[in-house]
Amino acid sequence: MRVKKEKKHVHTLKNNLYLLKEVHAASPGRIPLNLLVVILKSVSNFLFDVFMLRFVINGIQTGAAFQSILVFILSIAAYHLCVCFFENWFNEIFAPVSDQKIIRHIQKKVFAKASSVEMACFENPAFYDRYVKAVSEASGRAMQVVGSLAGIVSCVFTVSAMSFVIFTIDPVLIVFALLPFAVNLLFGKKQNDIQYEYNMEMQEKSRKRDYVRRVFYLSDYAKEMRLTNINKALFLKFADAVRELKAVIKKYGWKIGLLDYLFQATNDIVVYLGAILYASFKTLVSKTMLYGDCIVVINTINSIAWSLRGIADIYLQFHGHALYIDNLKYFLEYEPAIPENPDGRDVPERGSLLLDHVSFRYEGQAADVLKNISLEIKPGEKIALVGHNGAGKTTLIKLLMRLYDVTEGEIRYDGVPIREYRLRPYRERFGAVFQDYRVFSMSVMDNILLKDNVTDEERTRAVDGMENSGILEKIRSLPNGADTILTREFDDGGVILSGGEAQKVAIARVFARPCEIVVLDEPSSALDPLAEYNMYEAMMKACRDKTVIFISHRLSSAVLADRVCLLEDGEIAEQGSHFELLHQNGKYAKLWEKQAEKYKEEAV
Ligand code: ADP
Repeated sequence: MRVKKEKKHVHTLKNNLYLLKEVHAASPGRIPLNLLVVILKSVSNFLFDVFMLRFVINGIQTGAAFQSILVFILSIAAYHLCVCFFENWFNEIFAPVSDQKIIRHIQKKVFAKASSVEMACFENPAFYDRYVKAVSEASGRAMQVVGSLAGIVSCVFTVSAMSFVIFTIDPVLIVFALLPFAVNLLFGKKQNDIQYEYNMEMQEKSRKRDYVRRVFYLSDYAKEMRLTNINKALFLKFADAVRELKAVIKKYGWKIGLLDYLFQATNDIVVYLGAILYASFKTLVSKTMLYGDCIVVINTINSIAWSLRGIADIYLQFHGHALYIDNLKYFLEYEPAIPENPDGRDVPERGSLLLDHVSFRYEGQAADVLKNISLEIKPGEKIALVGHNGAGKTTLIKLLMRLYDVTEGEIRYDGVPIREYRLRPYRERFGAVFQDYRVFSMSVMDNILLKDNVTDEERTRAVDGMENSGILEKIRSLPNGADTILTREFDDGGVILSGGEAQKVAIARVFARPCEIVVLDEPSSALDPLAEYNMYEAMMKACRDKTVIFISHRLSSAVLADRVCLLEDGEIAEQGSHFELLHQNGKYAKLWEKQAEKYKEEAV
C-alpha cells in the first residue's frame, strides 16, 4: 500500500509511536534506560573526542598546571568506567530479558487475534500475507524501532554538542558542518522517495522468492519435493523472482548510488578537507586558533556531518518500520466477522440444530457451494452425510460450528439463531475431528485432551477415549505410555505414529470430550474398513445420548446412522434411513451397490 506523500511523515510517526507504546507496555523500563545508555555513551564519546583533546592540548600550549590536567583526566576516566559498566549491564542483562518480555507481549496479542479471526481470513491471500508478516517479524521489529530511536537520540546529541563547541571555536566552521545538511535538504527528499519506492518494490518481489524458499524447507512439502519434479518448477520460479529483484536493483541502484556519491563528495571533499584547510590556516597563518581547537575541528567536523546523515538514514528506517507496522496494526485491529459476542445468549445444554434455507458461497467464488438447504437435526440423532467429493459436506458442518457464517438463510440451535449465542461456548458444544486433523508436539495425553491443568477425571476419560478409538494397547506399549511425546520436534525419544494410529489419537479426542454434538469429518480414511466400522460402532455406543454428525465415504458406516443425507452439488438429493433409501432405489441405492460390488471383488 502506497501512503499518500503528504501524509507519509504523520503515518511514519503514528506507526512508530504505536509500536513504541507496545514496547513500553511490555517492558516499561526499556525505552528510558535505552535512551539513558545512548546519552551517557554519547557524552562519554564527546568528552574523549572533543573536550579532553581540547582541554589537554590547549592546556599544554598555554602552560596549564599538570595537576589540573591529571584531575581532569581522572574524572573523565571515572565517568567512562561507570558508563561502560552501566552499558554492559544494560546490553547483557537488562535488554535480553526485556527482549523476551516484548516478544511474549506482542506474540500473545498476535496469537490471540490469530485464533479469533474467522477461517475465511486464512483463505484470503492479502490478509494471510499480512498475517504471516506480522507474525514472523512482530517482536524483532519492535526492538529495531527502539534501536532506531536510540540511534536518532545519539545523533541529535552528537550534532548539538559538537556544533556548539565548533561554534564557540569559530562560527564560520558551522557553515562547513551544515553544508551536507543543506545538500541533504536539497536531495534528501528525492533520495527518501526513491529509497521508499525501492523498498516497496523489493518487498513485493521478495514474496515470490520467499515462498519458494519456505516450500524447500517446510516438512509439509518434503514428500512431493522428493517424488515429483515440482522442485525444478519451483526453482524456475525462484530464479524468476531473483531476476525480477535484480531488475529492481538495476532500476534504482544508479539513482541511489549517484545521490549517495553526491553526498559523499560534498562531505569528504568540501566539508572535511575544506574545514581542515580553514583550521590549519587560522592556526598556522593568522594564528587565531589554538592547536587543541584545530585538532578538535579536524576530529569533529566529520562526525557532525555523518551524524546529520545518520539522522536522515534513521528517518528512512522509521519509514521502513512504518510499512511493516501497517501489517501488524491491520492484523491486530482487524474486527473479526464472526466475533466472540461476550454479551450473547448462554448456550443451552441440548437443542436441535436447524438449517433454514441455508445457502453459502466462499469469499471471492462465483457460485454457491450450498444451495437452499433445509435440515433439522434433533438432539441425540445420528446423521450421516454422504456424497461425492466437492458436494459440500465439510462446508455444511463448518457452518454448523460457525467457522463460517451463512450467506443466506439461518442456522438455529434450540430455536435461536446461532449468531445470537456467545461464540466460544457455542463451539464448545461440539467435539469435532476433521480429515485434516493435526498432531501436536506434545504428549499423547495432551494431544487427546488439548488443554492445560488436566484433572484425574479428564485423564480417565482420555484413557476411555483411547480404548474406544482402538489405540489404547499401542499407547500402553510406548516407553512412557500416554505421557510419551509425539513427533521428534523437541524430543529425540518422541514417537512418530503411523497415519492410522495418529487418526485414532485424533478420534480419541472426541470420545474424551464432554460435548453434546459430535462431528466427524471422515476422520477414518486411514483405517481399514473393519477398523472404521468398529470405531463408528464404538462411537455410537459411547454417544448414545449425543447428536452425531459424520461424513464417511464408506457407506457401510452410514448403516449405523438414524438418517442419511445424500448431498449432491450443494443440495440434499435424498434423505432417510439407510434402508429407506435402499428401498427408494435412487442415487444412494446406486452408490451403495457400487461400493458393495467393490468390496465383493476385493474379498474374492
Ligand atoms: P466435500 O466435503 O463434500 O468434499 P467441501 O464442502 O469440502 O466438499 O467443498 C465443496 C466445494 O467448495 C468444493 O467445490 C470446494 O472446492 C469448495 N471449497 C471448499 N473449501 C473452500 C474454500 N476455503 N474456498 C473456496 N472454495 C472452497
